[in-house]
Formats: sequence, C-alpha cells, structure tokens
Amino acid sequence: MEYPKILKAPIGKHSVKPNLENYEKIRQEFSWDQVSKELDWFDSDHINIGHIAIDAHLKTERRDKKALIWESTKGQIEEFTFADLARLSNRFANVLSQELNIKKGDRVFFFLDRVPEIFIGILGTLKAGGIIGPLFSAFGPEAVKDRMADSRAKVLMTSSALKKKIAEILPELPDLERIVIVQRGKEMSDPEDLSYEEAMARASDSFETFRTSKEDYAIMHYTSGTTGKPKGAVHVHNAVIGHYATAKNVLDLHEEDIYWCTADPGWVTGTSYGMFGPWSNGITQVVYEGGFSAKRWYTFIERWKVTVWYTAPTAIRMLMKAGDELPGQFNLESLRYLCSVGEPLNPEAVIWGASVFGKPFHDNWWQTETGAIMIANYPIQDIKPGSMGRPFPGITPGILDDDFNELPPGIEGNLCVKPPWPSMFRTYWGKEEMYQSRFKNGWYITGDKAKKDKEGYFYFVSRADDVINTAGHLVGPFEVESILIEHPAVAEAGVIGKPDQIAMEVVKAFVSLKEGYEPSEDLQHDIQKFVMKRLSSAAAPREIEFIDSLPKTRSGKIMRRLLKAKELGLPLGDTSTLEED
Ligand code: AMP
Repeated sequence: MEYPKILKAPIGKHSVKPNLENYEKIRQEFSWDQVSKELDWFDSDHINIGHIAIDAHLKTERRDKKALIWESTKGQIEEFTFADLARLSNRFANVLSQELNIKKGDRVFFFLDRVPEIFIGILGTLKAGGIIGPLFSAFGPEAVKDRMADSRAKVLMTSSALKKKIAEILPELPDLERIVIVQRGKEMSDPEDLSYEEAMARASDSFETFRTSKEDYAIMHYTSGTTGKPKGAVHVHNAVIGHYATAKNVLDLHEEDIYWCTADPGWVTGTSYGMFGPWSNGITQVVYEGGFSAKRWYTFIERWKVTVWYTAPTAIRMLMKAGDELPGQFNLESLRYLCSVGEPLNPEAVIWGASVFGKPFHDNWWQTETGAIMIANYPIQDIKPGSMGRPFPGITPGILDDDFNELPPGIEGNLCVKPPWPSMFRTYWGKEEMYQSRFKNGWYITGDKAKKDKEGYFYFVSRADDVINTAGHLVGPFEVESILIEHPAVAEAGVIGKPDQIAMEVVKAFVSLKEGYEPSEDLQHDIQKFVMKRLSSAAAPREIEFIDSLPKTRSGKIMRRLLKAKELGLPLGDTSTLEED
C-alpha cells in the first residue's frame, strides 16, 4: 500500500491544548527534578507510588472524581472514586500488614483476571511497603512457578479457578506463606486460604502509608531473554516520576479525559500506564475485563466516550481485519488521541487510524526495563509513519556500533539509552551480574536494533537477540524449548519467531523426536497443547516442524540463527562453528 511519508502536525482535531506545546523548548529546559516537584513527596527522599496514584488527590477536588470504571465481560459495571480506592487500598494494606505479616520489601504476587481487586491489591501492597509482582492470568503452571519461585513471593492473590490451574506447582513454592482468594461470589475451595472479601470486611479503612524511600523496590515484572528463565526487572518508587511525566506529555492526558489502556496488568504497560501514569495525573480510567473483540471494543469506546486510547499494534491490525465498515456502526466521535506500543506499528496501521477515526495512532517505544516511555510521537509533531518518534525530553537514546561509537543518521545499530532516568530498572531480581551486563561505556543496552534520521526520529529495525515478540508478548525461546523437551516424544527442540501479518511474529518450533515416535498431526497438536497448558497460549508454537536433527554448535548449542535463516530462505551466514556430522 502507498502511504504518505509524513503526516503534518497538527493532525486531526485537537479539542484541547496539548500538554507538550513545544518539543524543542521543553527538551532543552527539561529536568526530572523539576517534574518531581509536581508530585506529593513525604519529604525530599521519601515517596510511595500508591500514595501518589491515589491518596495525593484526596486533598484536592479530585477526591470524589471517578478513578476507575470497570465493565465485566457480562456487562456488570463497578465504579470507584479516588476516595473509594484510597479507602479500599488502605484496607488491603491492613490485611497485608496485620493478617499476613507483610513487611517492607516482601513480594506479593497477583494472578488474577482484570478485576477491580487487582488494582486495589496492587495499590494496597505498595502502600504497605511490599513489592508487587503481577502475573498474566493466561499463564500456565510452569510460567507461574518460575516467576514465583525466583522472586520468593510470600503472598499470592488469585481466584479459586486460577488457583486450580496452578495447583500442581504450589507445593514447589516453599516461600509462599498464604494465598488470598478473590471470591466474587464463588465458594472458597481451601479453608487454609484467606478470603479477600472476608479479610477486607474485617480491616480498617485507615492506614498510614509506608514512607518508602525513593529507591525502595516497588514493582517486579518478569521479562524473557534469549537464554535462561525469565528475569524479574525491578523498579523503585521513584519510577512514578517517569510514569507521571510521560502519561502527561505523551499520552497527553487532561483532567476531563476518559482514558482506556487495553494492556493487561500482568505486563508493564498495564501497571505503568494502566495504573500509575494516569492516576498520578488524576485521570478517570475505564477498564474492560475481557480480551480482544472488535465489536466489544467499539461498543466500549462508544459507551464510555473514551477520549484517549492506548493500545497495541496487533490489536490495531485485528481491528483493520475486522473491516472499515464496522467502526461506522458506532459513535466513536469522543476519541481525541490514539497511542500504540509494544511492537512495530506498520505505517498502514497509522494511516488506517487517520482514515477511520480521523486521527492516527501515535507509536511509542519502551520496554519492561525502561519502566516508562522513552521514544514517542507527540500531538504537536509531524508523524513519519513507521517511526517510533523522538526521545522523551530528559531521555537520551543513541544508535551505537558494537564498540559503543555513536552512529550517524541512517545507519542501523544498537539502540541504547544514557542512564539514569527515574523509571529505569534497578536490578534483575537475584541476578545483579546480568543486570550490570546491560550497562556499558555509560549506556544502557536495550537489546533492540534501530536507526534514526537527521531530524532525530527513531525507527525500529529488529531485536538484537533471539527473543520473539508475538502480539506484543516477549517469548524467550529457551523457555519454550525447555518445556518442549519435557514432552515424552521430544528429543531436541529449537524455537524461532516466524513473521506473521497480524501478530508480527509467531512461535515456530523445530523438533526432533525420540526413538519410537513418528511425526503426525496428532502428535503435533499434543505437543502444542502441552506447551499451551504449561506456559501460555502466546508461547505455544503455532507451527511445529519435525526434523531429524537440529543444527548445533560444536559446544552443543542449538543454532536458532540457522533455523531462522532456513525458514526465511536467507543466506546461512557464518557456519564455521557448526557441529559436523
Ligand atoms: P516488553 O519488555 O515486554 O515491554 O517488550 C519490549 C520490547 O518490545 C522492546 O524491546 C521492543 O523489542 C518491542 N517494542 C516495544 N515497543 C515497540 C515499538 N513501538 N516498536 C517496535 N518494537 C517495540
């Protein structure tokens, strides 16, 4: 498809003055210290994200403003003001500190669907000084075990149905002291667990928020790499400065906005921009419990008159697939500003937004480790479809060669960012050496390849490693390979990302079988189901190819690069380290 190379600002109608009015000027004058003064600190060193997101507004007119409007898949609606969330998170903080003996720095994990209790639980944990660890509810037992065992979480908040799904791994978590069950009208299955509803009913409304220091750990999100199990990227309370500033200036949130972030709280977008960014700005958010459905989504936007919408490229491509006529059946006039993150946003999707909604999607780039948006398109700037935009003021990204020399515009290299910034991760939990290895010569190495143009617009090129980005979910090939080889029929496995029109990449596995097993469609389905059940549907190979043996280095490492080159019909490159038959 032919598309314009530039969309000149201002694009679409702007019913409000953008918060970031002059990019160059703000970039020059920007200081994180200055921004941090807009937040309600306890003193110059102490701040708590739970307080900033919710309680800080109680002294203002926002006290009785709606903070969260939740709609269930069945159409049930629950609404919470900032005062309600303050009171309920206080209760949960009391439950944690009085009934569950949670102390500063203890890990509290969440394995829940997108229900209001996850928001209350997370806010309460932060207020009590704990570290939150949200897990995607589609995870299988193995994925949950890896993360909870590594973090040595003390408390898990879940539902009876989700607990049942992971029951087999619970005995393997010696540090897990107690499970809190969100009942929502359902029976408790185990009397040893704590009922959320019963504990909340006993707890007091008042709680004195823990005066965490700005460098105290607050948030853990697990992220996948090329090798090894997922690593817990740890963020501190100071990160909220980044959430606040970017939500204000990139998502352009204004007092009257109705904001919808489609990300699940299990991922970093779901906490940074599904909780802390918008709420630290005192914004009303709407949350839909369910997953993707074009019709449901348009209905949701129409019903709640969503003004700012933050979503992801795969969802946009699925909406495109659902057709251009469908949005015309809804009144989507309320939409004012659209943003996207998580994977490359193809130029066609940017233009499609402009033609269907009268405004394009504004792409932005960041990752679990950066904690907040680093590169973005802004309302006052021209959009170059296909570009992630320009650096956020206060952030200095660079394109570097392998010797850490900055490369000129137009040349591809490693995307790096100059540390520090407030929301930068502070460690990988228990893996300090690995954390340190991400910093060299005064740069943080993001693991992405990119380039920039003369005007400072950045373009994503690819991952520098083997990590697969499928529908915005990072999948570590090692994680999938380790599960595959646990299947009784599988001898060896190699996993790659295969290009896909909608999800950008899907997981493809090359598998060699043990003696006595023959390739068949049934076996293929069985292996797929095995991974889906143990890890998650995103990680389950969409395709399985049976091969006699996998290409390996002489040291026995599977050469995914070769599998990928073969799959894509590309030159095989340097094969000098390849094992000889
Ligand atoms: P995660 O840590 O799961 O949030 O994934 C971060 C990774 O997703 C980045 O390192 C990129 O590889 C990819 N990513 C995020 N945003 C974008 C974007 N706007 N364009 C291209 N890739 C992106």
